[in-house]
Amino acid sequence: MKLSNRITGLTDGGSDGWDIHYHARSMIAEGHPVAMLTIGEHDVGTDRSILEAMHAAALAGHTGYTLFQGNANLREAIAKRVSDRTELATAPENVLVVPGGQAGLFVSHIATCGDGGKALYIDPNYATYPGTIRAAGAEPVAVMARPDRDFQPDPRDIANAAEDARCLLINTPNNPTGVVYNRRTIEGIASVCRKNDMWLISDEVYDTQVWRGVHISPRTLAGMAERTLVVGSLSKSHAMTGSRIGWVIGPEEAIHHMGNLTTNTTYGIPGYIQEAGLFALGCGEDFEKKIAAPFRRRGKMVVAMIKKQNLIKAVPSDGGMYVMLDIKSTGLSGRDFAAHLLNERHVAVMPGESFGQSASGHVRVALTVADDILKNAVASLIEFATELALVNSDIKKRGVF
Ligand code: PMP
Repeated sequence: MKLSNRITGLTDGGSDGWDIHYHARSMIAEGHPVAMLTIGEHDVGTDRSILEAMHAAALAGHTGYTLFQGNANLREAIAKRVSDRTELATAPENVLVVPGGQAGLFVSHIATCGDGGKALYIDPNYATYPGTIRAAGAEPVAVMARPDRDFQPDPRDIANAAEDARCLLINTPNNPTGVVYNRRTIEGIASVCRKNDMWLISDEVYDTQVWRGVHISPRTLAGMAERTLVVGSLSKSHAMTGSRIGWVIGPEEAIHHMGNLTTNTTYGIPGYIQEAGLFALGCGEDFEKKIAAPFRRRGKMVVAMIKKQNLIKAVPSDGGMYVMLDIKSTGLSGRDFAAHLLNERHVAVMPGESFGQSASGHVRVALTVADDILKNAVASLIEFATELALVNSDIKKRGVF
């Protein structure tokens, strides 16, 4: 039977780079130890206290249908969190609770450009972005953030692509680069959105992981609250990736309509998860710092190791769970480098190309394994790159798996 173009066209037919990750997994299954620096998931599980709150909530009867937009107490707590963090008054009516940031990205695109509109996003990008935009029925158009600008997008490039665009999706702190957009970038982006009457969808799921500088939420800038949808989540900030709980913040009218979408799609999220989310939000800033601390420490460690040699360069990263490495001097693409590194050194990293064109010649290192494993893996990566550079021409002749 024929399937819809929308469903069959989701992935664009190309490889998304996850084959390295899956190949590494199958190597592990065959008994070869592999250092997995591919995936953005904490190496600690959800804190026991949050799980206990979840368990208690389920036993107390939070097992039935919930309010589709999110329970009142949770919407209130999220509104308070956003008001406190951004100093911009935010009401429960500005909050929609969704099953994770990913669902937030989807409803935001349906709401702003789902009827075939042109949707801009910044490349390099979190791998799901183009597929999410297509799933929402819109046309994804990439705007490159260039390595020579340390991957800070140039508002002039966005302006050049803005004609007829309905929305722009940005992500700071950024996956995959770890770059935190500075005030100039954010102000420039906001100005382009205002001038071109575009929605801004701001993915801020890493907002608790900023090591240098500050996270600026563009919704706080003049004239932006009415045209910005902020996507947030407890996945990264509270190590709750599997609980699937996040939110969208936006103008009341947009949130109302997006609430109708949840009524007709996800039908709300489980009450015991919402109660656990409420408990997690109450754990405070020290708890969030504790969850973020390993990434800060490991990022620093990796950058210090990289600085000791000249072959590989680290993209200056100020936050998030990743470090991006420029490996162009080895003569290989990010893809080929990652494939060789996996086969020959049993270290799995993501090719930059899986995050878009502008990250080609790079690999992304996830800081999500224990410090000693990460240290050995990065030492091995550096050693491998050094050998590669020496026998560059030979390696090219041998090809990849
Ligand atoms: N946005 C970005 C930039 C991400 O990296 C991720 C997850 N890796 C998500 C959104 C989705 O997160 P969630 O678990 O909240 O759906």
